[in-house]
Amino acid sequence: LVKYNDIHKSYGDLEVLKGINLGIHEGEKVALIGPSGSGKTTLARLLMTLEEPTEGTIEVDGKLLWHEEVNGKLQRASEKHLHEVRGNIGMVFQHFHLFPHMTVLENIMEAPMSVLGLKKSEAKKDAEEMLEKVGLIDKVDTYPAQLSGGQKQRVAIARALVMRPKIMIFDEPTSALDPELVGEVLDVIKEIALEGKMGMLLITHEMDFAMDIADRVVFFDEGIILEQGPPKELFNNPETDRLQSFLSRFT
Ligand code: ATP
Repeated sequence: LVKYNDIHKSYGDLEVLKGINLGIHEGEKVALIGPSGSGKTTLARLLMTLEEPTEGTIEVDGKLLWHEEVNGKLQRASEKHLHEVRGNIGMVFQHFHLFPHMTVLENIMEAPMSVLGLKKSEAKKDAEEMLEKVGLIDKVDTYPAQLSGGQKQRVAIARALVMRPKIMIFDEPTSALDPELVGEVLDVIKEIALEGKMGMLLITHEMDFAMDIADRVVFFDEGIILEQGPPKELFNNPETDRLQSFLSRFT
């Protein structure tokens, strides 16, 4: 579903990603772990098309992210192409980025109406279904400022889900939350993960959570993938000193 091919990314002289090859299958849940500054967010931002790689290509659902084939020749992607590729990708950030002037329901209905062209009644039905799923159906008419951080993040998740992406990217979805609110957000993500249909790329510092839901854990260090494997294997038998010392901080 997603394929990073020999991805390099530099900011000026700083090479943040140093040749990443990573595939995510349809429905696969991949957790990215690693020290702060190792390049996890950058990897996610590339997939979100918020950044462009310095070298290498990224494919989503068989389509290149930044290029498209026109008359047998590869050329730079048009806005239309980017738009189509982005349609497969849902994103949830550390900070929730809700529209403050819209109610919870309006926040969720916005993209289906403006991007997918859904009628208001259809968008409302879908939005209500998603709010039910994240346990916030009683908050439809509430404005974001009146919600707790955990509730805001659950609205952000519903807003991404309603677009029915093939892959969801979660970039440290709980790290801006008060500790007592983390659980409710993780529970919602877990429930979505268990439904199984969507691929997930999850950047997290919650090791138990990664263990719980990931099919594969990828350990990132200084811009390369140092180790990867099924969570139990990776957590119980880390091969490198770097991963051992990283994991020892969480026990
Ligand atoms: P964290 O867990 O703290 O979020 P991370 O593993 O996600 O860390 P990145 O956010 O990808 O790491 O950052 C990797 C490196 O790239 C850092 O040294 C950061 O300062 C640098 N960096 C990220 N974005 C930019 C930018 N727009 N311009 C310059 N440097 C950047």
